[in-house]
Amino acid sequence: MAAAPHPASEIAIVLVAAGKGLRAGGPVPKQYAPLLGRPLLAHTIEALSVLRAPIQPVIGPGDEPLFATVLDALPAEMRALCRAPVTGGDTRQASVLRGLEALGGDQPQIVLIHDGARCHPATQLLTRAIEAARAHGAAIPGLVVSDTIKQVDAQGFVAQTPERATLRAVQTPQSFTYSLILRAHQFAAKENIQNLTDDGSVAEWAGHKVHLFPGDAANLKVTEASDFATMERLMSADLTDIRTGQGYDVHAFGPGDHVWLGGVKIPHTAALVGHSDADVLLHALTDAILGALADGDIGSHFPPSDPQWKGAASDQFLRHAVSLVGKRGGKIAHLDGTLICEAPKVGPHRDAIRARIAEICDLPLHRVGVKATTSEGLGFTGRREGIAAMALATIRLPE
Ligand code: MG
Repeated sequence: MAAAPHPASEIAIVLVAAGKGLRAGGPVPKQYAPLLGRPLLAHTIEALSVLRAPIQPVIGPGDEPLFATVLDALPAEMRALCRAPVTGGDTRQASVLRGLEALGGDQPQIVLIHDGARCHPATQLLTRAIEAARAHGAAIPGLVVSDTIKQVDAQGFVAQTPERATLRAVQTPQSFTYSLILRAHQFAAKENIQNLTDDGSVAEWAGHKVHLFPGDAANLKVTEASDFATMERLMSADLTDIRTGQGYDVHAFGPGDHVWLGGVKIPHTAALVGHSDADVLLHALTDAILGALADGDIGSHFPPSDPQWKGAASDQFLRHAVSLVGKRGGKIAHLDGTLICEAPKVGPHRDAIRARIAEICDLPLHRVGVKATTSEGLGFTGRREGIAAMALATIRLPE
């Protein structure tokens, strides 16, 4: 985990990700649920990283292993911006205070406080937040509301209707002079005020004037399961750099009683010979993805001279290539592979192979094609000396 000291920075970010967030219905808190192949929080950190400012994550108790998966999904230069996470408290307010106090040694002038579940804050929004904090000391992004908002009583009847023009829906990042918001939070904690739901309210409670700057309608807070699909659509619209990569691989037969093809163990009268498990299809797919990324080949990422890959299961090579697409902020649109051999017969195993590749790559089944052909007895595959595989990967990256 990156805990290297950061140089003094004018700006720092408290990233609030301590919620249990189970409303989205998944097995893990929503900030760790996958979005475009990466944990949601990895997207948030990537978006914040444009500021090149230290990020202080606040996570739930026991969430360290989940947070490690977030760091794993980020390139090194973004990981390096993240300070070691601190554990949050019982309320959002308590969590933010811990994050602010953890930044104490850095003495930033300005702090942005951002909810981890808002995974796509635009750079312009972050810039507005910084400028507003410099000008006003305490500032929050607000959206004009288009719905009429009612205040209701405990019986579910309308108590009153505030005038819509005076209302704003408030987002994060909220931005403050660091000392102002730290003192306001400390004061609120001391006075046992503990259920203010945003930091603007804390500043307001402490007697500060809080400025509103324009928010961004696309800066959604991912809350419900359906928000993931909405966010994926929104973020996919940015993936306009569409690329195709090709992969090709061959392994020879040797003594043995099974082969690995597409991550599936298939009984056969011979085995494929190789440094790893010799899964010719997974190797071709890995190279196809690396080709689309223009990032070397399987041999440059996993040198055959390295003893740690001896006998290795090849799904890890493919997983690595997929993770590199994620680190570039992209997604895989489609994978297509062809096996060329006389035997074993691939047909009976085709569905299992497709399903296994989809699982390894975290793709829906309809984005994975697997085909097989013989070479009509011609050439080395025709003479049953080995198996060849060809693959294409189509990926989408941000420009
Ligand atoms: Mg190979």
